[in-house]
Amino acid sequence: MVQAGWVREPEAEGWLHPDVEVRRSDVAGRGLFARVPIPKGTVVSRLGGRLVDTETLRALVDGTEEYVDSIVVAEDVHLLLSPGSDNRFGNHACDPNLGWVDEYALATLRDLAAGEELFSDYATSTVDPAYYLRCHCASYRCRQMVEGTDWQIPQLQRRYAGHWVPYIQRLIEAQAAGSPVSPSPAADST
Ligand SMILES: [Zn+2]
Repeated sequence: MVQAGWVREPEAEGWLHPDVEVRRSDVAGRGLFARVPIPKGTVVSRLGGRLVDTETLRALVDGTEEYVDSIVVAEDVHLLLSPGSDNRFGNHACDPNLGWVDEYALATLRDLAAGEELFSDYATSTVDPAYYLRCHCASYRCRQMVEGTDWQIPQLQRRYAGHWVPYIQRLIEAQAAGSPVSPSPAADST
């Protein structure tokens, strides 16, 4: 079993690097873009909001047609993104240029050119088996269907080693060590 352990409280509101701005995106609605070149390893987005358990998150998802922005933080703990934070405009891609450096922060995985859109792979921040997203990104790596169980795909585990949210990184390491893994409570089932 992976223990939830101590969970660091998030900030109430998100933070974006001043060199990042929200623009209309070809991918979906709006997105986050580099105003100027941004070097590899720069923390560009810190998510804020409040922590909820899976049951609360499930009720929110079921109760709205809107997309509910959340990431997994620990066993039965999710960050519900502040609805007022621009961080929520960050889009998914199957060949992302952002990865996680702690529970709430995304950093660039390579140098970004001015005008590039910033993407994370949503699989790096969810373990909800009910989650899915249809994707039509330009990458030859496009999975077309991004699912909450994608963290279990060995190629992705290797590609994103060190760039998952810490909770999923711990699940992957526990799985590799042969420990039984229970990523989510029953409330996540459909
Ligand atoms: Zn894709």
